[in-house]
Amino acid sequence: MTDTLSSRLEQVRERLRAACEAAGRADGAVALLAVSKTFPAADLREAFGCGQRAFGENYVQELQQKCEALADLAIEWHFIGPLQSNKTRVVAERAHWAHSIDRLKIAERLSAQRPDDMPPLNVCVQVNVSGEDSKSGCAPEEAAALARAVAALPRLRLRGLMCIPEPTEDAASLAAQFAALRRLKEGLEAEGLALDTLSMGMSADLEPAVAEGATLVRVGSAIFGHRSYAH
Ligand SMILES: *Cc1c(COP(=O)(O)O)cnc(C)c1O
Repeated sequence: MTDTLSSRLEQVRERLRAACEAAGRADGAVALLAVSKTFPAADLREAFGCGQRAFGENYVQELQQKCEALADLAIEWHFIGPLQSNKTRVVAERAHWAHSIDRLKIAERLSAQRPDDMPPLNVCVQVNVSGEDSKSGCAPEEAAALARAVAALPRLRLRGLMCIPEPTEDAASLAAQFAALRRLKEGLEAEGLALDTLSMGMSADLEPAVAEGATLVRVGSAIFGHRSYAH
Protein backbone atom coordinates (compact mmCIF):
# COMPACT_ATOMS: atom_id res chain seq x y z
CA MET A 1 0.00 0.00 0.00
CA THR A 2 1.32 3.45 -0.78
CA ASP A 3 2.15 5.53 2.25
CA THR A 4 -0.15 8.51 1.96
CA LEU A 5 -1.91 10.55 4.60
CA SER A 6 -5.21 9.03 3.59
CA SER A 7 -3.87 5.46 3.84
CA ARG A 8 -2.31 6.17 7.24
CA LEU A 9 -5.56 7.69 8.49
CA GLU A 10 -7.45 4.63 7.29
CA GLN A 11 -4.93 2.36 9.10
CA VAL A 12 -5.46 4.29 12.35
CA ARG A 13 -9.24 4.01 11.96
CA GLU A 14 -8.80 0.28 11.42
CA ARG A 15 -6.64 -0.02 14.55
CA LEU A 16 -9.32 1.83 16.49
CA ARG A 17 -12.06 -0.47 15.17
CA ALA A 18 -10.01 -3.55 16.05
CA ALA A 19 -9.20 -2.19 19.52
CA CYS A 20 -12.88 -1.51 20.21
CA GLU A 21 -13.80 -4.99 19.07
CA ALA A 22 -11.07 -6.60 21.18
CA ALA A 23 -12.28 -4.65 24.21
CA GLY A 24 -15.91 -5.56 23.62
CA ARG A 25 -16.78 -1.92 23.05
CA ALA A 26 -19.12 -0.53 20.41
CA ASP A 27 -17.70 0.54 17.08
CA GLY A 28 -17.44 4.31 17.32
CA ALA A 29 -17.19 4.33 21.13
CA VAL A 30 -13.83 6.09 20.85
CA ALA A 31 -13.34 9.41 19.07
CA LEU A 32 -10.21 10.04 17.03
CA LEU A 33 -8.41 13.33 17.58
CA ALA A 34 -5.83 13.99 14.85
CA VAL A 35 -2.84 15.66 16.51
CA SER A 36 -1.47 17.98 13.87
CA LYS A 37 1.21 19.95 15.74
CA THR A 38 4.17 20.92 13.54
CA PHE A 39 2.35 19.87 10.33
CA PRO A 40 1.25 22.44 7.77
CA ALA A 41 -2.34 23.55 7.30
CA ALA A 42 -2.40 21.73 3.94
CA ASP A 43 -2.06 18.39 5.77
CA LEU A 44 -5.05 19.19 7.98
CA ARG A 45 -7.03 20.17 4.90
CA GLU A 46 -6.17 16.82 3.33
CA ALA A 47 -7.21 14.90 6.46
CA PHE A 48 -10.43 16.95 6.59
CA GLY A 49 -11.06 15.85 3.01
CA CYS A 50 -10.82 12.25 4.25
CA GLY A 51 -13.55 12.92 6.81
CA GLN A 52 -11.45 13.87 9.86
CA ARG A 53 -13.09 16.71 11.81
CA ALA A 54 -11.30 16.99 15.19
CA PHE A 55 -7.72 18.28 15.28
CA GLY A 56 -5.39 18.77 18.24
CA GLU A 57 -2.72 21.45 18.55
CA ASN A 58 -0.07 21.95 21.23
CA TYR A 59 1.16 25.47 20.59
CA VAL A 60 -1.00 28.57 20.88
CA GLN A 61 0.57 30.37 17.94
CA GLU A 62 0.13 27.36 15.68
CA LEU A 63 -3.48 27.01 16.75
CA GLN A 64 -4.12 30.62 15.85
CA GLN A 65 -2.38 30.39 12.46
CA LYS A 66 -4.16 27.20 11.46
CA CYS A 67 -7.55 28.49 12.60
CA GLU A 68 -7.04 31.44 10.28
CA ALA A 69 -5.70 29.38 7.37
CA LEU A 70 -8.54 26.85 7.66
CA ALA A 71 -11.40 29.17 8.60
CA ASP A 72 -13.44 27.83 5.69
CA LEU A 73 -13.55 24.32 7.22
CA ALA A 74 -15.85 23.22 10.06
CA ILE A 75 -12.99 21.90 12.21
CA GLU A 76 -13.38 21.04 15.87
CA TRP A 77 -10.22 22.46 17.49
CA HIS A 78 -8.69 20.84 20.57
CA PHE A 79 -5.86 22.43 22.50
CA ILE A 80 -3.73 19.71 24.12
CA GLY A 81 -0.43 21.40 25.00
CA PRO A 82 0.88 22.99 28.16
CA LEU A 83 -0.92 26.27 28.85
CA GLN A 84 0.73 29.38 30.20
CA SER A 85 -1.51 31.95 31.79
CA ASN A 86 -0.46 34.73 29.38
CA LYS A 87 -1.53 32.60 26.39
CA THR A 88 -4.99 31.47 27.43
CA ARG A 89 -6.92 34.05 25.40
CA VAL A 90 -6.30 32.45 22.00
CA VAL A 91 -7.48 29.10 23.34
CA ALA A 92 -10.56 30.68 24.95
CA GLU A 93 -11.45 32.41 21.69
CA ARG A 94 -10.55 29.68 19.19
CA ALA A 95 -10.78 26.21 20.68
CA HIS A 96 -13.75 23.94 21.22
CA TRP A 97 -11.83 21.87 23.75
CA ALA A 98 -8.82 22.22 26.07
CA HIS A 99 -7.41 18.94 27.46
CA SER A 100 -4.50 20.23 29.48
CA ILE A 101 -6.05 21.96 32.49
CA ASP A 102 -3.66 21.29 35.36
CA ARG A 103 -4.25 24.22 37.68
CA LEU A 104 -7.17 26.38 38.70
CA LYS A 105 -5.62 29.67 37.63
CA ILE A 106 -5.57 28.53 33.98
CA ALA A 107 -9.16 27.34 34.17
CA GLU A 108 -10.31 30.62 35.71
CA ARG A 109 -8.66 32.62 32.94
CA LEU A 110 -10.16 30.45 30.22
CA SER A 111 -13.61 30.83 31.76
CA ALA A 112 -13.25 34.60 32.12
CA GLN A 113 -11.96 34.96 28.54
CA ARG A 114 -14.45 32.67 26.82
CA PRO A 115 -16.57 34.93 24.59
CA ASP A 116 -20.24 35.18 25.57
CA ASP A 117 -21.43 34.34 22.08
CA MET A 118 -19.65 30.97 22.10
CA PRO A 119 -20.77 27.82 23.91
CA PRO A 120 -18.82 26.92 27.06
CA LEU A 121 -15.32 25.58 26.41
CA ASN A 122 -15.14 21.80 26.85
CA VAL A 123 -12.26 20.92 29.16
CA CYS A 124 -10.41 17.97 30.65
CA VAL A 125 -8.28 18.02 33.76
CA GLN A 126 -4.84 16.60 32.95
CA VAL A 127 -3.52 14.21 35.57
CA ASN A 128 0.10 13.17 35.97
CA VAL A 129 -0.62 9.46 36.44
CA SER A 130 3.03 8.41 36.29
CA GLY A 131 4.30 10.77 38.96
CA GLU A 132 7.31 11.72 36.79
CA ASP A 133 8.62 15.12 37.79
CA SER A 134 8.94 16.32 34.21
CA LYS A 135 5.35 15.68 33.24
CA SER A 136 2.63 18.28 33.29
CA GLY A 137 -0.69 17.50 34.88
CA CYS A 138 -1.91 17.75 38.44
CA ALA A 139 -1.03 15.09 41.00
CA PRO A 140 -3.63 12.29 41.21
CA GLU A 141 -4.48 13.28 44.79
CA GLU A 142 -5.23 16.84 43.66
CA ALA A 143 -7.42 15.84 40.73
CA ALA A 144 -10.75 15.63 42.54
CA ALA A 145 -10.52 19.08 44.12
CA LEU A 146 -9.36 20.65 40.86
CA ALA A 147 -12.14 18.91 38.89
CA ARG A 148 -14.79 20.15 41.32
CA ALA A 149 -13.47 23.72 41.12
CA VAL A 150 -13.30 23.61 37.31
CA ALA A 151 -16.81 22.17 37.07
CA ALA A 152 -18.10 25.22 38.98
CA LEU A 153 -16.71 27.76 36.49
CA PRO A 154 -19.48 29.30 34.38
CA ARG A 155 -17.90 29.34 30.93
CA LEU A 156 -16.24 25.92 31.05
CA ARG A 157 -17.83 22.51 30.73
CA LEU A 158 -15.82 19.81 32.46
CA ARG A 159 -15.95 16.71 30.26
CA GLY A 160 -13.41 14.43 31.89
CA LEU A 161 -9.76 13.62 32.45
CA MET A 162 -6.65 13.43 30.28
CA CYS A 163 -3.26 11.79 30.78
CA ILE A 164 0.05 11.20 29.04
CA PRO A 165 1.51 8.05 30.61
CA GLU A 166 5.18 7.43 31.10
CA PRO A 167 6.41 5.69 27.94
CA THR A 168 7.30 2.12 28.78
CA GLU A 169 7.68 -1.28 27.14
CA ASP A 170 6.00 -2.76 30.18
CA ALA A 171 2.40 -3.45 29.15
CA ALA A 172 1.24 -3.96 32.73
CA SER A 173 2.64 -0.63 33.85
CA LEU A 174 1.02 1.15 30.91
CA ALA A 175 -2.34 -0.51 31.58
CA ALA A 176 -2.07 0.45 35.26
CA GLN A 177 -1.54 4.12 34.37
CA PHE A 178 -4.59 4.17 32.07
CA ALA A 179 -6.64 2.28 34.65
CA ALA A 180 -5.66 4.83 37.30
CA LEU A 181 -7.15 7.62 35.18
CA ARG A 182 -10.34 5.59 34.62
CA ARG A 183 -10.71 4.98 38.35
CA LEU A 184 -10.23 8.68 39.10
CA LYS A 185 -13.01 9.50 36.65
CA GLU A 186 -15.26 6.84 38.19
CA GLY A 187 -14.62 8.32 41.62
CA LEU A 188 -15.65 11.78 40.43
CA GLU A 189 -18.77 10.38 38.79
CA ALA A 190 -19.66 8.67 42.09
CA GLU A 191 -19.49 12.14 43.66
CA GLY A 192 -22.03 13.38 41.14
CA LEU A 193 -19.95 14.98 38.39
CA ALA A 194 -21.30 14.14 34.93
CA LEU A 195 -18.22 13.17 32.90
CA ASP A 196 -18.09 11.47 29.52
CA THR A 197 -14.45 11.74 28.45
CA LEU A 198 -11.24 9.84 29.09
CA SER A 199 -8.63 11.42 26.80
CA MET A 200 -5.83 8.86 26.66
CA GLY A 201 -3.92 6.85 24.08
CA MET A 202 -1.55 8.06 21.33
CA SER A 203 0.06 6.51 18.23
CA ALA A 204 2.09 3.98 20.19
CA ASP A 205 -0.45 2.98 22.81
CA LEU A 206 -4.00 3.52 21.57
CA GLU A 207 -4.90 -0.18 21.96
CA PRO A 208 -4.17 -0.47 25.71
CA ALA A 209 -5.86 2.91 26.25
CA VAL A 210 -9.02 1.70 24.51
CA ALA A 211 -8.88 -1.51 26.54
CA GLU A 212 -8.92 0.62 29.74
CA GLY A 213 -11.82 2.80 28.66
CA ALA A 214 -10.47 5.69 26.57
CA THR A 215 -13.28 7.64 24.88
CA LEU A 216 -10.90 9.80 22.84
CA VAL A 217 -7.44 8.93 21.52
CA ARG A 218 -4.96 11.62 20.44
CA VAL A 219 -3.02 10.34 17.44
CA GLY A 220 -0.34 12.36 15.66
CA SER A 221 2.60 10.61 13.99
CA ALA A 222 0.64 7.51 12.92
CA ILE A 223 -1.51 9.84 10.79
CA PHE A 224 0.77 12.69 9.76
CA GLY A 225 4.17 10.98 9.87
CA HIS A 226 7.36 11.73 11.73
CA ARG A 227 7.54 15.21 13.28
CA SER A 228 10.65 16.85 11.94
CA TYR A 229 11.07 19.94 14.08
CA ALA A 230 10.95 20.37 17.79
CA HIS A 231 9.62 23.40 19.65
C1 LIG B 1 2.04 15.06 20.32
C2 LIG B 1 0.96 14.62 21.24
C3 LIG B 1 0.14 13.52 20.94
C4 LIG B 1 0.33 12.65 19.72
O1 LIG B 1 1.47 11.87 19.85
P1 LIG B 1 1.86 10.77 18.73
O2 LIG B 1 2.80 9.89 19.44
O3 LIG B 1 2.46 11.52 17.60
O4 LIG B 1 0.59 10.09 18.36
C5 LIG B 1 -0.89 13.22 21.83
N1 LIG B 1 -1.11 13.95 22.94
C6 LIG B 1 -0.34 15.00 23.27
C7 LIG B 1 -0.63 15.75 24.51
C8 LIG B 1 0.71 15.35 22.44
O5 LIG B 1 1.48 16.39 22.79
